Amino acid sequence: MSDTQQRVERRFHGVGVSPGIARGTVFVLRPEDEEAPSRRIEDWEVPGEVARFEAALLQTREQIVEMQNRIAGAIGAKDASIFDAHLLVVEDRTLIDEVLRTLDRDQYNIEYIFQQVANRYAKTLSEIDDPYLRERALDINDVCRRVVRNLMGKDPRSASQIDVPHILVAHNLTPSDTAQLNRKLVLGFATDVGSRTSHTAIMARSLNIPAVVALHNVSDSLLSGDHVLLDGYSGLLIVNPSDQTLWEYGELEVKKTEVEDKLEALRETVSTTLDGRHITLSANIELPSDIDLVKQSGAEGIGLYRTEFFYINKNELPNEEEQYENYLAVAKEIPDQSVIIRTLDLGGDKFMSALQLPSELNPFLGWRAIRFCLERVDVFKTQLRAILRASALGNIRMMFPMISGVDELRRANAVLEECRQELREKGIPFNEHMEVGAMIEVPSAALVADLLAKEVDFFSIGTNDLIQYTIAVDRINERIAHLYEPTHPAIIRLIKMIVNAAHAHNLWVGVCGEMAGEIALTPLLVGLGVDELSTGAALVPRVKRAVQSLDIGVCLQLVDEVKNMESAEAILEKCEAIAKAHYPELMV
Ligand code: PEP
Ligand code: MG
Repeated sequence: MSDTQQRVERRFHGVGVSPGIARGTVFVLRPEDEEAPSRRIEDWEVPGEVARFEAALLQTREQIVEMQNRIAGAIGAKDASIFDAHLLVVEDRTLIDEVLRTLDRDQYNIEYIFQQVANRYAKTLSEIDDPYLRERALDINDVCRRVVRNLMGKDPRSASQIDVPHILVAHNLTPSDTAQLNRKLVLGFATDVGSRTSHTAIMARSLNIPAVVALHNVSDSLLSGDHVLLDGYSGLLIVNPSDQTLWEYGELEVKKTEVEDKLEALRETVSTTLDGRHITLSANIELPSDIDLVKQSGAEGIGLYRTEFFYINKNELPNEEEQYENYLAVAKEIPDQSVIIRTLDLGGDKFMSALQLPSELNPFLGWRAIRFCLERVDVFKTQLRAILRASALGNIRMMFPMISGVDELRRANAVLEECRQELREKGIPFNEHMEVGAMIEVPSAALVADLLAKEVDFFSIGTNDLIQYTIAVDRINERIAHLYEPTHPAIIRLIKMIVNAAHAHNLWVGVCGEMAGEIALTPLLVGLGVDELSTGAALVPRVKRAVQSLDIGVCLQLVDEVKNMESAEAILEKCEAIAKAHYPELMV
């Protein structure tokens, strides 16, 4: 490619899922499961292949030790110790001898031989009914990829190896990949697939990293080292931005900074409408470290702590003590405000290797969240005891995810009561009056909200799942993202039903799905009677400004106008018109 061709601006259009603008050099994360190429070799080539193999094992060893040291420094020696198992793989004599024997016998290039032998070895271990050996199979797969990449002279898969600021480009990032991103080095990320309500996108907003998804084949079109501008507002990735583009974005950033500065001034103010209705405005967190942004945001507490991120990226389940300390530490950071801890919501798009969750055809409809917890009562009770104990000293409430009906909620409450009883018997303190809520995110729960209301203290509406289950639109599938419509008339009716049921039983009701942070929809949610909105910390000031600019009369009238409308698009237009009329500066 010539120099002039290289500088031609190219634009890729996707979906902006985390606002902000990033400029920098790309690092392309290639798919993990690459097949090593195969090539027959001659006798005389064997010693050279052996030497390459030894060098790759050494290089891999150094990379693992380096990563282990870095993680020990950043998170702690305990988490870094998971790499001990990886080191054992590069030193495994049985595996190495088998590779050398096969090389001598079959005479193919070493990366091909190594991949075949390591895969066979891992497969044998994974078929043995022993969790320890199955875990070793995962380690072998991980290390095998690394060795093959080293043999092939490719970039390491792990973005965490890049120690200069970069924009990460990948086909896909899992929530656990995203949780490990180094916010100081990852200026932004862009993926081929993905959607607004995937946990990867939610995570990016929490980390305040600009992100664009659904860019189709961007990861195949870019090379590490390309210069790009990433626009997380409009969902654009611009390669080799021209001087004109850079100037325009410079102007845009100035405008956005002015708005942000004004929003910052709202930190100490309350989210009350012009006519005095207070809407509690809380923040969602995924990691304890998100709390700093929450404190800066002017939120009134934590409306959703997604505790599953404490479980993923770990080889072992967190024990009761670790969880207790974690929950209490979060609560102590905001002693005058409450933290709503959501019990474990694994499954769907969030997995944990230590639990060996089976792969399912429809994971979002499968063994997820409360369904998993009610079967793995041991795991559930460990968490419940930790939450209860933390409630003795911290201002804590808790809620169950994915409740689908009364029986399920009663079973969850019964397990909670067992834990209370165990603590009482041992004389361990906890708050007997800790509020317990149910997330309403399954349509069946919305339809029986009046019955569920008798069993809990509050509801929190998980619109991300409520929308996906009601309209039958997979929330992480970018192909059908256009069908994922928060203003679908069915969603509006369900929210109204939930709010009515809650209020009839004197319960408060919040929204903690991404809809709570969509300022175009604030008039709708306030008009529907929601008492609390909980959103990513970065969005809190905007939602506060929106609430402060509205009055209840306008919101009620909006609900009245849209309640019999048929089209989600037309309803959205109405909402946007109100938003633009009341807070135009936020709607640019
Ligand atoms: C939701 O479903 O709206 C929700 C808040 O939970 P999650 O996004 O973690 O599934
Ligand atoms: Mg949910």
